Amino acid sequence: MKYQNVLDEAFEAMKNAYAPYSNYHVGACVLCKDGRTFKGANIENASYGAANCGERSAIFGAYSYGYRKDDIEAIAIVTDGDRIGAPCGICRQVLSELIHQDTPIILSNGKDTEIKTISELLPMQFNEEDLR
Ligand SMILES: [Zn+2]
Repeated sequence: MKYQNVLDEAFEAMKNAYAPYSNYHVGACVLCKDGRTFKGANIENASYGAANCGERSAIFGAYSYGYRKDDIEAIAIVTDGDRIGAPCGICRQVLSELIHQDTPIILSNGKDTEIKTISELLPMQFNEEDLR
C-alpha cells in the first residue's frame, strides 16, 4: 500500500497514547512532502476537556515546525478499536483548515483501512470565508 510507512509510524505513535480513562488509544502521523513526519497520540487528562486527540497532536506538531497545508502529503490516524476510528468533530474542524480538501486521510485499526478526504468527512464546512 502506498501509505504503509505513514501508517506504520502512526501505529508506532499509538504506543505513546496516554489514555488511562477511555483506554482508547489513537496514533497519528502527518507525512510531509519533503519526507518528514510528525507523530501524535491522544493525551487524556483527569479534567476530561483538557484531553487532546492524536491527530490534532500530530498536525499541531507539523504546524509548530513551520509546515503548512501545501507541505502536507497525507495524514494517517489509527486506533486499536474494533472498528476504524474516524476523527471526532473537533478534529474534523481543525483538519478542514489545516490540510487541503483532497489530502488523503488514511484511517486504520490494523484490520481495516480506508482512505478519506476532509471534504468527505466534513461537508458544508464553517471556515475563514464565513468570517470575512
Ligand atoms: Zn478528535
